[in-house]
Amino acid sequence: MVRTILGYGIALALAASVLNAQTASPTPQTKPASKPPSATAKVPKFFPYPVNERKLPNGLTVIVIPTPEFKDMVTYATPVFAGSRNETERGKTGLAHLFEHMMFLHEYGGKDHGYDEMIRLMGAHNNAWTNYDMTFYHPTTFTQNLLGPVKRPGATVPGLIELEASRFTALKVGQKTFEVQAGAVLGEYRRIFSYPSEKMIEQLSPLVFPNHPYGHTVIGFRDDVENMPKAWNAAWAFYNNYYQPNSLAIVVVGDVKPDTIFAEVEKRYANWKPVETPTIPEPAEPDGEKVTHVDWEAEVSPRVMVGYRTPAAQPGTKDTAVTTILEELLISRSAPLFQKLRYKKQTVTDMGFAIDPMTTDPFLLLIDTELKLDEFQKNGQKYIADVRTDLITGIEELQNFSKQPNAAQTLRVIKSKVRNDFLGSLDSTGDIAQIFSVLYRFDRRTDTIDRMMAAIDSLTPADVDAFAKKYFTPNRRVVATLWKGDTQQTGTQKEGQ
Ligand SMILES: [Zn+2]
Repeated sequence: MVRTILGYGIALALAASVLNAQTASPTPQTKPASKPPSATAKVPKFFPYPVNERKLPNGLTVIVIPTPEFKDMVTYATPVFAGSRNETERGKTGLAHLFEHMMFLHEYGGKDHGYDEMIRLMGAHNNAWTNYDMTFYHPTTFTQNLLGPVKRPGATVPGLIELEASRFTALKVGQKTFEVQAGAVLGEYRRIFSYPSEKMIEQLSPLVFPNHPYGHTVIGFRDDVENMPKAWNAAWAFYNNYYQPNSLAIVVVGDVKPDTIFAEVEKRYANWKPVETPTIPEPAEPDGEKVTHVDWEAEVSPRVMVGYRTPAAQPGTKDTAVTTILEELLISRSAPLFQKLRYKKQTVTDMGFAIDPMTTDPFLLLIDTELKLDEFQKNGQKYIADVRTDLITGIEELQNFSKQPNAAQTLRVIKSKVRNDFLGSLDSTGDIAQIFSVLYRFDRRTDTIDRMMAAIDSLTPADVDAFAKKYFTPNRRVVATLWKGDTQQTGTQKEGQ
């Protein structure tokens, strides 16, 4: 599954964000106030669960978060700190997502689909997703199934920890199985790009990031997806680089005892050898506004996206704190921009973030709007231009956020909402494992959530101004539009073949 942020609430938006300090180059910081707090700085505890951490000699980190209120349940998650951002080779995009599929085809016990059969017999719920910066595996089952053996009529199933260790440390997939699965990804590609917004992101990305893997979407370029069955060697190179103890963690959340988990994980993963991960180049600095247009084949509501190049996320900094509240400031029901477009002028019918603005390397804040087809047919380009101008003005107006009459009060309400939404989203072992993992990966510290929340708490209206002045400028702007392709427009590209 390819994960995009469309339709997320703020808590999951936070959760879906990424940064891992060991592979990311730090963003150049101009203001001392934006530096991360030192490693020893104490921040108030916000994350409501105890976090137990152990590092194995091979570099593998194991995190155990006991949540006894979810009686007998456990999520045994493996966040891999690599996604499509780690696909640096031209012509070989989409491998992170491809490998997410491959991991379910592991020949456990030398049998085709052996792993999947054991999981099915166990009765575990098993799924995974891939995004730009991360791949996340999150099987959930009963605590008693972790260690095994699990007795089933006519079969003995190993424990979940043994099964997961087997596919992560020594994946076995035959070339034929690989080719069939790689061929099937094209179907997923077609499904994804039946959504107009996804096509706009796909076309905009290489324009904004010509020399960085953010220039392609998570599933990869269409040509590469078509050629995937032939990418056997490149795919294994990707697996060998990133499916290793340094590039992932084990995050266990549920009704468990930390010592039991540590002992079993050590037993199953101790012989796994680390390798050095390749470095990823930083995206080039913005060099002016980027504009693109998609001619869609079918009659659809037109869309306008407006965005800005934003910094790499570093939880604990002011910049990242502002990034986490942008959704509230810009597109929540009470945001002035949302109010204006959706209710006062009624020029858009839908508004959201097109991608997650919290990323390992500098990426994009991108607001996606859906317009009205009948109004477009009546007023054409004038209508599009009007929405585009309103979006630009609404976003760039944050440069003067502190001058709004209720700025301090607005910010107080947002902070409290972010805190409540975050706590409210921790309502299953799977959710807790996911939210913890996606934030942990930024700097691989167990107090990342606490530091991020402390930074949000310390924000002033002037911090919002400062962020907007730095990042919401014409030089960093991107614009994408889409409508059915018979309206004249210069610099357009045909969608599809
Ligand atoms: Zn998929």
